[in-house]
Amino acid sequence: MPQHHRLIVIGSGPAGCTAAIYAGRAGLKPLVLAGFTAGGPPGGQLMLTSEIENFPGFPKGGIDGKKLMGAMEEQATEFGATFLKVDVDSVDFSTRPFKVVTADEQYTADTVIVSTGARSRLFGIPKEESLISRGLHTCATCDGAFYKKKHVLVLGGGDSAMEEAHYLTHFADVTLVHRREVFRASQTMLERVKKNPKIKLRLNEQPVEYLLRPNGTVRGIKAKNTQTGQLSDIEADGVFVAIGHIPNTDLFKGQLKMDENGYLVTGAAAGGPKDHPSSYTSVEGVFACGDVQDHTYRQAITAAGSGCMAAIDCERWLGEHG
Ligand code: NAP
Repeated sequence: MPQHHRLIVIGSGPAGCTAAIYAGRAGLKPLVLAGFTAGGPPGGQLMLTSEIENFPGFPKGGIDGKKLMGAMEEQATEFGATFLKVDVDSVDFSTRPFKVVTADEQYTADTVIVSTGARSRLFGIPKEESLISRGLHTCATCDGAFYKKKHVLVLGGGDSAMEEAHYLTHFADVTLVHRREVFRASQTMLERVKKNPKIKLRLNEQPVEYLLRPNGTVRGIKAKNTQTGQLSDIEADGVFVAIGHIPNTDLFKGQLKMDENGYLVTGAAAGGPKDHPSSYTSVEGVFACGDVQDHTYRQAITAAGSGCMAAIDCERWLGEHG
């Protein structure tokens, strides 16, 4: 494996893979450092989901998340990308070529595309991650349709929880479980939830455990009342966690401009072109795509679209700068 590359892509979810497909096809032979543990498995959050029904092109039941990511990697490889399933330990974007360091190697690159994604904040209950897609979910848009005419719990009290609860009422009856009586959510979103007859509130309840069926899927939560300390079981067909997201940006602290929640700033606000949206970060030659810079849409398809943007930005930038 050569040490120097024209492009290194960090992260291998839909954003990183799409960037690698476009950059590979443009002859850039990208090295994709696919990640191993940081923020989840190589392939990103889709590796934790089962059926994806809303990614265009897969009618009649959608496609399995692992299959989709495997196909994206294969397609990028066919165009000359190389995937290494390693974590990046550190980067240095202060001098050129940029340095990207893993446990075993130090690589250099003319350009870097950052697509390290974001992860859903979880409660820290043992084995919680292994329950995702087994009755436990972190995205109503992705998985809500599996609960037609069922009863689900939404855990959280911020705008995400309100949005998820409201969205889920298209399919199911919802109980929103929050640990306090006051909400972090905006008044408008809270009012909309309170007015929705399909949503019930359970307040002052802190989830402490997941209840499991004999087959290991989630059938509710055990919650501790934050006022009385009393434990109770809250049963449901499925559980949606909505207590925030954490962008995987620790690596880039002090190197790339971030907003107050740690998401990378891209486009004109980072010093990129003023006349159109772009994937430019605050360092010229470093581009970002996917959930690491998007806390609004967070969909596989929007991540893939922004990966395409990053590869085109990168290719054009290399063309202009030699
Ligand atoms: P958030 O505002 O940080 O709210 C997180 C919620 O989860 C809070 O209610 C918090 O409870 C609860 N929580 C966190 N950790 C917990 C734990 N360990 N146990 C129990 N509860 C826990 O996160 P968010 O709702 O994802 O929103 C993030 C940002 O995106 C906000 O600025 C929000 O306005 C924005 N957003 C906007 C929209 C929209 O406008 N359409 C939609 C979604 C998100 P406490 O309140 O008790 O701390």
